Amino acid sequence: MYDRFNREIYYLRISVTDRCNLRCTYCMPEEGIHLLRHEDILSFDEIAGFTKVAVANGVSKVRITGGEPLVRKGIITLVRMISEIEGINDLSMTTNGVLMNQFAHQLKDAGLHRVNISLDTVDPVRFTTLTRTGNINDVFKGIDAAVSAGLLPVKINCVIKESKEEEDAIAVAQFCENNNLKIRYITQMDLFEGHFSTVDGGTGGLCSFCNRLRLTANGKLKPCLFSNIEFDIRELGFENALKMAVDFKPETGSKNQTGTFYNIGG
Ligand code: SAM
Ligand code: SF4
Repeated sequence: MYDRFNREIYYLRISVTDRCNLRCTYCMPEEGIHLLRHEDILSFDEIAGFTKVAVANGVSKVRITGGEPLVRKGIITLVRMISEIEGINDLSMTTNGVLMNQFAHQLKDAGLHRVNISLDTVDPVRFTTLTRTGNINDVFKGIDAAVSAGLLPVKINCVIKESKEEEDAIAVAQFCENNNLKIRYITQMDLFEGHFSTVDGGTGGLCSFCNRLRLTANGKLKPCLFSNIEFDIRELGFENALKMAVDFKPETGSKNQTGTFYNIGG
């Protein structure tokens, strides 16, 4: 699929839940979030059905995200349903890694190719402060499990405030080097204010090369993270929503005043 600016669109990011077992300070408000109603969340059949249509129209790269994808009940079944769609040559997941120790081998077996695990510090106390609740040892165990399950390459998403030279970022880079992991630095963004930036070592944030569509847990197809534009796949139908999202994908992002990281999935 090509959009109005001749960008080939072949990457679909699917947020499978708005729920999360952490409360990262830059992602979620302290007081918690207003959760989607159960009936508004897409079913597995809807997610897999839409993905099938997207793949038939040229999507070949799919990422499962959230919220925290591993807290969605039945996630292994969903991964299997997606991996069975012929034509996906890169199937990945972004996760905070807390539950990865429990799921890594099942995910591999269900057909997931690889994972990105988020880790912004290797300091146990700062990790708990930053996530408001997490235990870093769960993430370390999760990273080991992902590597031993063969969900490779395991990439580490490291959110930085401004620079790779920040103390936490340097320590995470060292950790990655010691453990043969690939690091991706993501500069902290503010969707509401329209502060976005590129992902160092990745392809995110470069509008002229943007190849993505995002599906939220409640079925809104978003052609741009930094825009309010979205198309409801239930109301419009899968084919129609897909066509409209591609046709109306903005040339460049501005602000997003309706969505957040935890419900769009980053
Ligand atoms: N819960 C999973 C996780 O944390 O990996 C998946 C969803 S999370 C929203 C996806 C990615 O977005 C994570 O790597 C997270 O660090 C990043 N993220 C969240 N809020 C962000 C923000 N304000 N600026 C930049 N990246 C952010
Ligand atoms: Fe949860 Fe991921 Fe947001 Fe942290 S960044 S609160 S782990 S969704």
